[in-house]
Parts: sequence; C-alpha cells; structure tokens
Amino acid sequence: MIRDLDTSTVEHVVRAIDDDQVIRFAQELVRINSINPNLAPGSSEEKVAGLIAETCQKAGLQVSYREVAPGRPNLVCVLPGKTPEIGLVFLGHTDTVPVLGMENPHSGEISGNYLWGRGSVDMKGGLAAAVQATLALARTDVELLKGVAVAAVIDEESEHRGAYALAQEGFESDYCIVPEPSDNRILLGCKGTAPIHIDFTGVLAHGSNPWLGVNAIEQAAKVVSVLSAMKFKELEIPELRTVIRGTMNIGVIQGGTQYNNVADKCDLFLDRRMIPGETQESCLTEIRNLLDQFAAEDPQFKAEARISRPDWHWEPIKQRGLNPAYTPATSLVARALESAHRQVYDQQVSFGYTNGYLDMDFMVNSLKIPSINYGPGEPGEAHTPHERLRLDQLIAATRVYALAALQLAS
Ligand SMILES: [Zn+2]
Repeated sequence: MIRDLDTSTVEHVVRAIDDDQVIRFAQELVRINSINPNLAPGSSEEKVAGLIAETCQKAGLQVSYREVAPGRPNLVCVLPGKTPEIGLVFLGHTDTVPVLGMENPHSGEISGNYLWGRGSVDMKGGLAAAVQATLALARTDVELLKGVAVAAVIDEESEHRGAYALAQEGFESDYCIVPEPSDNRILLGCKGTAPIHIDFTGVLAHGSNPWLGVNAIEQAAKVVSVLSAMKFKELEIPELRTVIRGTMNIGVIQGGTQYNNVADKCDLFLDRRMIPGETQESCLTEIRNLLDQFAAEDPQFKAEARISRPDWHWEPIKQRGLNPAYTPATSLVARALESAHRQVYDQQVSFGYTNGYLDMDFMVNSLKIPSINYGPGEPGEAHTPHERLRLDQLIAATRVYALAALQLAS
C-alpha cells in the first residue's frame, strides 16, 4: 500500500535537497565527455562513474565498481537500510551519443532555466537527480528498512554491456526507477528493437551490358517498397487507453561500387521496434519469410537476413536482443512515483509508454524487477544538437525521487 507521506516528512526531505548543488552536479557530469567509445574515440564513461563514486563516498554510501570491459566500469552506490535488501534502485547510464557538430557540447552552460550540452537530457540530468535524491535521504535522519541504490552503467547507447553485466550478476532490488528523460511523466514500458541486416547478392557486369548481371540495388529496392508498406501488430495498454504498435525504419542502404558497374552487393539495415509479445526471432522470421517469397518468384534473387547493426561487435547482445518491457500502473513503484509527483507538483502525473528502448528491459525481463521510467528532460531533445535540460524539472525530479525512494525503502 502506498499512502501519501505526511506534510512534515515531505518538507523535511525536500529541505535536505540543496537545489544549487543538484544543478552544479548535473553541470559537472555534462562537462565530462563520455560519448560511447563504440561511437567515437577518446571519451570516458569511467570519469562520470568516478565523479559519482567520489560524491557518494564522501556522503558515506557504499560504493562498488564492477569492471565490464577494460576501462569501462559499472558503478553501484548504496545507501544501506536496516536490512541488507535493496528496496529501490535507480538505473542510469554514464555514456552519451556523439555530438553531431554541436558548438560547445561539453560546456555545461546554464542560461535561464536550461542546462545545455550533450547528455544534459540523456541522461546526466536524471543521473544527477537520482544521486542527489539518495544523498538527501542520507542527510535526513529517516530510518530506511531497505537500501536505496544508484546503478550507473556503461554502454547504453550501443551494445548495452553495462545493463547486461548487471543482469548477469543477478542484481537484486524490489523496484527500479529509470531516470531517462520522460518530461517527468510516468512511462510504464518501452519497446524492444531488433536490428536486422539484409544483405543482397547480385551478379557483377559492365554497366553497358546490364542484362549480363543481376543488380543487387534493384533487388533491394523491390524489398524496400514492400517493407515500407508493412503494417505491424498492435497492443492495447488498458490503463493508458491507448494502442501501441510495432514499427520499422529503414536506416541505412549501401550498395554498388561504381556508376558503370552492375551492383553485385547491397546492404540494408532495418530498425524494427517491437511491442510486448514480439521477439527479435519473430521479427527476423517475418523478414526471412518475405525474402523467401521473393526468391520463389525470381530464381536470381539472393538475400539473407540476420541480427546485426553496424556498431555491434559483441556477440552476446546479438544473441540476447533488446526486448520490450512493461510494468503495470498498479505496481508499487508506479504508485510511489504517482504519490510523490502529486506531492511535489500539487497535480496529477500523466502516464505514457515510450516508443524508445530503455535498459529497463534487463531489469524487467532478466531480473524480474518492476521498473518505471520517470525522469527530467524532454525526450525529443535527446540525441539532438540542441539538447538542453529544464532546471525546474531537474529539481522537481530530485524531490520526487527522494519521496518515492522513502516510500519504497521504508
Ligand atoms: Zn539514455
């Protein structure tokens, strides 16, 4: 059962949060270049983890590093309760996407109500709020029955090795909040993503005698026209009174060698987003069946589909896949966030379901931990060259996290 906390407890917890410190901490995190090393060289997730570890250690939290790949550690910081169990974990990531020609991507500039820079929204703001909420609880004298943890993992923007490692070690917690940007809305679930590579093989010939060859680009084009008209499964999420659907984006097409050759190679990379009930295998089968139909009608048609994307080199993630996840609104973690949001904002929170993929997949599907996405920042600004975080949302999220953590850990 979740009941609203009494007013004096709310005031006590909110007073323990130093707003300036929250903003400064988010700013310091943005100032560290931590672009995922699969996507650009020379950056450091480790420095982000280091700053969080140092800050948590000073406040007396238990800090432990888990090296996932050389120089790429996961970090888990725990504010212990009376029992050894963890009541709530915040799951965040320390990497960002590349900077796309941004002028000062790591300046951490603050102007008006915004903190600018790569990672401000996705997701150093959310990570800062989670850490500062936990530190605020440490400063109060409230008794926690169970611990509150912050897990800061690597590699969310590429191969998800951090969350994978956390799942492999059997991390335990009653509930999880994912502080990815949601505009401080409660998002009950995420879609999965199946990266499908289709590789077409033609027959090379001189461009002046195209009838002597088989053009792989033309074969791919026929498939593209069918793919772009495909309709995918729908699922109703009753508490949202909404329907979610699978989608497909044809992200990359590459083929041919020179203009006066018949292309003997063409590659397509598809981003197939899955709803609960769909799997990477079911999506791959769907594409393979389509290719079989083409092959049955045209003996010269040669194409193969597999799970692959250009930045994935690590076999385990291809095997596991990135699955959809969902936690009902009746779950205690959703209820705790709903109550905390109402107490901070004095209005009802809104609910939704993200079209994106989140590491909550590993929590919900591998570790069976009910997980909700709630975090500061407009999700549409993540990954863009104009990424900026609303400071009022950052502060509100910190308060909401502290109150929800208190509910779930006491
Ligand atoms: Zn993110």
